[in-house]
Parts: sequence; structure tokens; C-alpha cells
Amino acid sequence: MKRSIIPIFVPHLGCPHECVFCNQRKIAGTQRAPSPGEVRALIEEGLCASGKSPEIAFYGGSFTAVDRSLQEALLDAAHPYVRSGRVSSIRVSTRPDCIDGDILAILKGYGVATIELGAQSTDDDVLKRSGRGHTARDIADAANQVKDAGLLLILQLMCGLPGDTREKDVNSAKEAAALKPDGARIYPVVVLRDTALYERYRDGSYVPLGIEEAASVASDMLEVFEDAGIPVIRIGLNPTEELSNGAAAAGAYHPALGEMTRSRLYFKRALGLLSGASLLEAVFGVNPSCISLMVGQKRENIMKLQELFPGVRFKIKPAEVPPGRVILLENESKTR
Ligand code: SF4
Repeated sequence: MKRSIIPIFVPHLGCPHECVFCNQRKIAGTQRAPSPGEVRALIEEGLCASGKSPEIAFYGGSFTAVDRSLQEALLDAAHPYVRSGRVSSIRVSTRPDCIDGDILAILKGYGVATIELGAQSTDDDVLKRSGRGHTARDIADAANQVKDAGLLLILQLMCGLPGDTREKDVNSAKEAAALKPDGARIYPVVVLRDTALYERYRDGSYVPLGIEEAASVASDMLEVFEDAGIPVIRIGLNPTEELSNGAAAAGAYHPALGEMTRSRLYFKRALGLLSGASLLEAVFGVNPSCISLMVGQKRENIMKLQELFPGVRFKIKPAEVPPGRVILLENESKTR
């Protein structure tokens, strides 16, 4: 069941790192962390708007790198809602090098059940060129500590970072999947104004992935996670007014990027079922909720299949298969 989330944004005040794609420093200069009273008000507001037992999420930076007394004050404001059962649990997002046994014990004590780790890549050269300030080893260590503490783990990866290639991105997905997270997010790079990456983009020393290429690379990463049985809960930045009004200067910003990515994987899977077949008609079966993903935007997948297999009629029918899966309904296909 998809659980609704009450997001609470905590700017990473005084973040000591300088990730090239991040404009938190600028954001932190204009925004402040909510007070405990404001956290309570946001939760009450979220409870009115959401369904039963939502989850509270402290997003926006590296929660566990924020001053410890502020962390505890915010968690203290949220914890009574977990104790009373009005919210199911709390999740926080953070960096791999800001996790240790002490902080995990504190988080658990306040009802935190899920840690989202910003891994971004498992390639040390990409991490270095992106100014992340941690290594792939830190990611594995943190992931293992989170799991050993009995907390749920979500790994966030990016693609199209400086020094990245499709192979490196897919390898990052494989190495992340090997850590057995409970879920993953994939964020193709969006070049934000007022970032180091924006300057590199402007002087031509960094070229971001375009939207189509980003969807293609992300679909290869998605395939890795799905094949490993790991749900990918988000692909691409959430669209916001600010991003749409110019803050996203270049790169893979598109409100339907997730759909485009998932649709590409459907095409790849459908194509794999047809290789070597000689058909007059092919009927694909997909989960009823995924028919539009199989068809593709503006019927793109069907048109590409028709180009590759001229004269074949393609149909898509609902079938009792899990989301993401495609089957060929053989009994409705005719061989020549
Ligand atoms: S991405 Fe996170 S760690 Fe990197 S600069 Fe931004 S807030 Fe700091």
C-alpha cells in the first residue's frame, strides 16, 4: 500500500560540503529550519489533508548533519504523533558519512523507521568530481549500519553527474542493489541556477544529459532495481513552480520523466519478447494500471514496434501480472 507522506523541509544549515549540483547554500541563506511549533502545525495540517496513518518525512538536506540539539527538538515535536498512532513513523534523508551507531540509536528512539541515504553514485571518481566529500565505501558502510539497526533503507542515486557514463550509472545501480535497500530513487541531473554545475554548464566544461537520454539511462538503472525486486519509488525531481519558472536551467527536468523512463523499460521488455518471432499479430499483457506505460506517450512504443516489425498488428490487454512485467499472450498470436 502506498503510504502518504507529510514532508517537512529542513534546510541543511551550514552544510560543510559543496556538491556541485546543490544550491542548498543559497537556499539556506534565505530559509530557516522550522521551529518545533511549526513542525507540529505542519503535521496537523498534513493529517487533515492525508489519509490514514501517514508518515512524517524530514527532507531537504542531511538531517543527521544538522546540529544535534535541533535534530532532537524537531524529532521531539514529531514523536508524540508516532506514539499516539496518528502517524505511522518518521523518515529522514541524510548523507552516507553522517551515520553512526549513536545517531541511529537516537533516531530509532524517536520513532524513525526509514533512512534515505543520498548515495548519488558508487564511482569514486564521479563522487569526487561532484564534490560529494564521501566515497563508495562510506555508502556501503552506512547502508549496512542502517540495515543492521533494523531500519528501512532507501538509496538515492543520480545519473549524468560529472565524469559519469551510462556504464558507470548502471554499475552504480548494480552496486546499490547489492546493498539490498528497501527502495530506491533515481534522479537524473538537473542543472540548477546558482550552483557550481551551472557555471560549468555555462562555460561548456559540463554537458548534462538531455531529457530523452536521461530517460534512457534511468530506464537501464530501473531495470537493475526491478530485476532485483527493489521498488523504485521516484524517478526525477518533483516538479515545482520554482523549477518550472527557470531555476532548472538545463538537464533532465521534465514533469513526466518517471513515466517516460518506465515506458522505455516496457518497450525494451516487449521487444525482448519478440526477438526471433515471426508474427502477424502480437498481444502483450500488462498489469491493468500500466497500460498507458506500455503504449507510451503519444503511442510512442507502439509506433516504434510497428517500425521495427512492419505488418505486425500490436495489441495490449490487461493481464494478471505485477506492475513492470510484460507477457506475450501467446494464444492470441498467430505465427506465419
Ligand atoms: S547535496 Fe547535501 S551534502 Fe551536498 S551540498 Fe547539498 S546539502 Fe550539502
